[in-house]
Amino acid sequence: MPDDFERMWNDLAPVGRSATSGGYFRQPFTAPEQELRAWFEAQCAARGLRVEADGLGNVVAWWDAGSGPGLLTGSHLDSVLDGGAYDGPLGVVSALAAVDLLRSRGFAPARPIGVSVFAEEEGSRFGLACLGSRLATGAMAWDRARELTDRDGVALGDVVPGGTSSLLSSVGTFVELHVEQGRDLVDRGEAIGVASEIWPHGRYRFEFAGAANHAGTTRMEDRVDPMLTYAFTALGANKQARLAGQRATFGRVEVTPNGTNAVPSLVRAWLDARCASDAELEELVEAITAQSADRAARDGTTLTMTPESVSRAVAFDPALAALVAADHEGGDWPVIPTQAGHDAGILAAAGIPTAMLFVRNPTGVSHSPAEHAEMPDCLVGVSALADTLERLAR
Ligand SMILES: [Zn+2]
Repeated sequence: MPDDFERMWNDLAPVGRSATSGGYFRQPFTAPEQELRAWFEAQCAARGLRVEADGLGNVVAWWDAGSGPGLLTGSHLDSVLDGGAYDGPLGVVSALAAVDLLRSRGFAPARPIGVSVFAEEEGSRFGLACLGSRLATGAMAWDRARELTDRDGVALGDVVPGGTSSLLSSVGTFVELHVEQGRDLVDRGEAIGVASEIWPHGRYRFEFAGAANHAGTTRMEDRVDPMLTYAFTALGANKQARLAGQRATFGRVEVTPNGTNAVPSLVRAWLDARCASDAELEELVEAITAQSADRAARDGTTLTMTPESVSRAVAFDPALAALVAADHEGGDWPVIPTQAGHDAGILAAAGIPTAMLFVRNPTGVSHSPAEHAEMPDCLVGVSALADTLERLAR
């Protein structure tokens, strides 16, 4: 008898958890993430699901039933650095529990149902979000991806065999259940929501070059200090995004030489920006960059800006979203946009009809140990997912 949701959830709770922060460090292809994958494959085996893997770290476990294009559901098991328990694993564990629920209902699917785990969704190791699904859909080529390196200089090509993936060739529909990463459902008083669209978003590397010098003997007016240019840029980005109802975040900074008593020679900082439309995103990043370049000219520093990844706006299939959201106990579920990227967005952009279900997060906090979902809401999520799969595989 396979484990139920709560038991599975408790199995995963200690894996990759930091004793100091209570947060999770489940970076792709590291020991904790491998442990989660081994757990996943054991759970699939216990359910008699047929496991397929590609050489890129993606896995799909099939409930072979009926005929025609497969109905896929799942999410990811990796986390950001010091992340929460729910972002990713909630969708995987709920998918397994939904399969159990459908079987206990005696449901015979008219098409195969698959449970998926995509690799490196967060981009916390090789720097590119949704790396596994980008490779699986062909949105990114292996020849380019293999050169990506982590902070220790290890290349992706050194940790996975690579190649092309045929894992999604038989997939006709994808449904991803995910913890909500904001407060929309909390404010609405709803346990479940359905995604309408994903805001476009991008990651941009800003390099500010100056001149290293002594923190004591160098007069303030003689300095060429890239930290100042960076600080001004971060403040300006925050203000511009705030005034326009958009998002701009500098969450990662590297300083060279990173000494307390030295003016730095180089500051590298990464901007994460998100807006309601592609045009607004372009405008926002252009404005931040222009303001930063002005400031660099005044500081005597130089700015180099490199977009690392830009994901266009994704609109989920409206008919599918309406079908998923309609007619539940207590009425229809709300259909809401999200500012977070997901594998579902990559599959939708690749032309696979895709839907997302969100489960309420009472803290509204994500990518942090404070991320949470109440157990009753998680169980509502499982039955919501099972209902959705039933509607789509009848
Ligand atoms: Zn996620």
